[in-house]
Amino acid sequence: MDYFYIGIDDTDSPDGMCTTYLASSILNEFERNAIEIEDFPRLIRLNPFAPFKTRGNGGVSFKLSLDQDIALAKEIVLDYVSRLSMFDCENTNPGVVFYKGEITPSMVDYSLKAIYSIISIEEAEEFAGEIGAEIHKFKKGRGIIGSIAAISCPLEDYTYELLAYRESEKFGQLRKIDYDSVYEMDKETFPETFENIDGKYLAIEPKTPCPVLYGIRANNPEVLKKAYDMVVPNENIADFQIFKTNQHTDMHIQDVECIADMKQYSCYKIRGEVKDKPHVIEGGHMFFTLFDESSEIECAAYEPTKSFRKTVSKLSAGDVVELYGGIGRENTFNIEKFQVIDLNDVVYKNPICQCGKRMTSAGRNKGFKCKHCGKTIKSDEKIKEHVKRDLTEGMFYETPVSARRHLAKPLIRMNLD
Ligand code: ATP
Repeated sequence: MDYFYIGIDDTDSPDGMCTTYLASSILNEFERNAIEIEDFPRLIRLNPFAPFKTRGNGGVSFKLSLDQDIALAKEIVLDYVSRLSMFDCENTNPGVVFYKGEITPSMVDYSLKAIYSIISIEEAEEFAGEIGAEIHKFKKGRGIIGSIAAISCPLEDYTYELLAYRESEKFGQLRKIDYDSVYEMDKETFPETFENIDGKYLAIEPKTPCPVLYGIRANNPEVLKKAYDMVVPNENIADFQIFKTNQHTDMHIQDVECIADMKQYSCYKIRGEVKDKPHVIEGGHMFFTLFDESSEIECAAYEPTKSFRKTVSKLSAGDVVELYGGIGRENTFNIEKFQVIDLNDVVYKNPICQCGKRMTSAGRNKGFKCKHCGKTIKSDEKIKEHVKRDLTEGMFYETPVSARRHLAKPLIRMNLD
């Protein structure tokens, strides 16, 4: 069925604004003008490795039936984007896209490409021409890349996010949301809402000067109203909006045959064998190498993943794991979560001496010696032993809430047994 679609992206900067807030202001203006949208407004997260993203690489879209005042809707959108975007920031290059018709298979392919890989402004512009979409570029107009994708993205699995916005005079000021109320809300509504807290860390609260006071994520919109009523914001909420979104669906994760087929700036599920014991470098980042018959890749659990590094450190050479994550700027695979497929519980150790102590090497090809009683053995052969492992085969392990990507599907949504 034909609808009128609106896509908006790239209106904010690290210093302020948020495309969802702009969208929410537009929706309020629509309401004042008796313009109704179909379903919920959508917040679509795109490639987490896109080079010009401000934070979470999200674009926004809405859908209107053709009996709405389309001319007025367009006028309102362009007016708001041109007035409220953060034009002073070099990296803010808003794009608005209007499209009338059905979402075609080529549009779906385009949106998946925007999630899986990198698209240029020229490519987006050419594609808009092919589908007959009307584009509005502000400055460089990079936002059209995400706007077309936000319109076109299919949502088979989806979640909802309620975003509460601050009064404008509070923008940039410290948020003082009552922690205990969020704790209670989480206790009452989890797992239908999720990612609310992480110990004492308030995950619903952004740490940036943007207009968002908090965002609560959930599997259904009904529970969000209940959660909203429970959270004590300790300041006036100017407005709130519920978005339907591809957040926490793993939509960015592609299946891939082998390591050699993986590309930089894309995200995958990849099975391989751990080559070496994970090690930490300066800054607290943890690395190990994963290999298969085609190639090998360096894998990382960076410092912000905190306690996840402890879990990763339990991996050993010979373990078979399935990793979820993506290849970033350093060409390293950033792990979001992993499943243990097969644990190597065999280790080769120096023999135990008759006196009960572990022997040490007597030198290359010289066998072993016991430092305790002086006994020597000529053979260099180490002894095979089985060790108890602190990981479980079949189990998934994920990064903590504080370090999780918007698109990463938390284990609580994976319907695991
Ligand atoms: P916020 O999350 O605060 O809304 P953001 O992280 O979404 O900000 P934007 O300001 O929207 O960042 O900037 C992201 C830019 O990257 C947009 O111009 C968007 O069109 C573009 N973009 C999105 N996906 C891709 C992609 N796959 N390849 C290239 N550019 C992309």
